Amino acid sequence: MNIGIVGAGIVGLAVAREVARTRGATVTVLDKEDRVGAHQTGHNSGVVHAGIYYQPGSLKARLCREGMALLRQYCAEHRIPYDEVGKLVVASTAAERPGLRRIAERARANQVPGIAELDALALREVEPHTVGVAAVHSPHTAIADFPAVARRLALDVAETGGSVLLSHPVRALRETASGVEVLAGSRRLRFDRLIVCAGLGTDTVARMAGGAGDVRIVPFRGEYYALAGASKDLVRGLIYPVPDPRYPFLGVHLTRRIDGEVLVGPNAVMALALEGYSWGDVDLTDLRRILAWEGTRRLAARHWRTGVREVLGSMAKGSFLAAARRYVPELTRADLVRTAGGVRAQAVARDGSMLDDFAIDVHGRVTLVRNAPSPAATSSLAIARHIVGLTSVLTR
Ligand SMILES: Cc1cc2nc3c(=O)[nH]c(=O)nc-3n(C[C@H](O)[C@H](O)[C@H](O)COP(=O)(O)OP(=O)(O)OC[C@H]3O[C@@H](n4cnc5c(N)ncnc54)[C@H](O)[C@@H]3O)c2cc1C
Repeated sequence: MNIGIVGAGIVGLAVAREVARTRGATVTVLDKEDRVGAHQTGHNSGVVHAGIYYQPGSLKARLCREGMALLRQYCAEHRIPYDEVGKLVVASTAAERPGLRRIAERARANQVPGIAELDALALREVEPHTVGVAAVHSPHTAIADFPAVARRLALDVAETGGSVLLSHPVRALRETASGVEVLAGSRRLRFDRLIVCAGLGTDTVARMAGGAGDVRIVPFRGEYYALAGASKDLVRGLIYPVPDPRYPFLGVHLTRRIDGEVLVGPNAVMALALEGYSWGDVDLTDLRRILAWEGTRRLAARHWRTGVREVLGSMAKGSFLAAARRYVPELTRADLVRTAGGVRAQAVARDGSMLDDFAIDVHGRVTLVRNAPSPAATSSLAIARHIVGLTSVLTR
């Protein structure tokens, strides 16, 4: 078979490799950018999640656990940096203890290995500069170089005879009786099947396929500060707040990255363009579409207070500092320097709810990955197995 994949992010490349490896198919990956991993894959926290938070039985819970094991092995085989630095979810007040207890229960329900509940003293043995009344420790939560994984996956695709065509934006597609015709850049290509892993571009390609469906991507920017100089030594691994169960994003946390930087963030503000990496990035066509979606308006009506707080926080270094000092009080204003952020592709349903789980739609010969937010980088190799295993995706 001749399979086309839209998107050379970590998910599209993992799918391409899996299709080529297990089905002997010829694969062609198309991306509009001039490099692989240009969007979410190259702009994230770099955390290999162990699967603590997710609804037991969900795709996220299963594919995160499987994906972590596959990724660890893949990184070892290809000598890609991967480090089990461990993660603490910290309750900073007694009022957060019940939430922390629920996290521990959920982690056990998801069979996350090595989970331990720590008191205030024990948590300082793991992170000596962190304060809190209690914590949940996940020793196998790791950090990895996701862009390096994406680059290696692209090499795997090439080694199986497939191609990764960069600077090839998909502009139009048409399903015919025998396949899918795609206009990418200035080339016309024909595939037996097309699998769309286009992240922030998902809706655009879904519309071309006639499968707009009942969800839309709403872009949520995550902004970060980085710790400067010696303040990096105050954090050994990953320090997270007890998450608010009403929101899928995990709250500002401290993250050691594989290159030695320590990030403070990300927050979550609605971006003013699908690829809105800063407040200056405004695309009126994107914005009109995002605001015209009933789901966006309902989401805004429900969560406007949080939205306003996040926007004000986005402007103020003090809010990041306060969030970080809650866990590491030795940090000062001078320790935080602004650094690049990323934009999450979050699917929002018509009723204004944010899709929690990974979502995949099969629309004739076109398979659309509709929602692949965090932990999709962690889960990418397992998502690929899952998609290739869906009989409707690759049978003629
Ligand atoms: C701030 C932030 C923090 C995160 N932290 C983590 C984390 O710590 N751990 C984790 O596991 N996950 C994390 N994630 C989530 C993770 O980064 C994503 O889930 C994952 O990268 C999704 O990969 P993807 O391949 O689906 O999307 P992308 O990497 O966005 O790739 C989609 C590709 O499609 C291409 N494309 C779009 N439209 C077209 C078109 N018309 N034609 C051709 N190409 C097109 C784009 O150029 C892009 O390269 C985070 C995300 C963000 C934004």
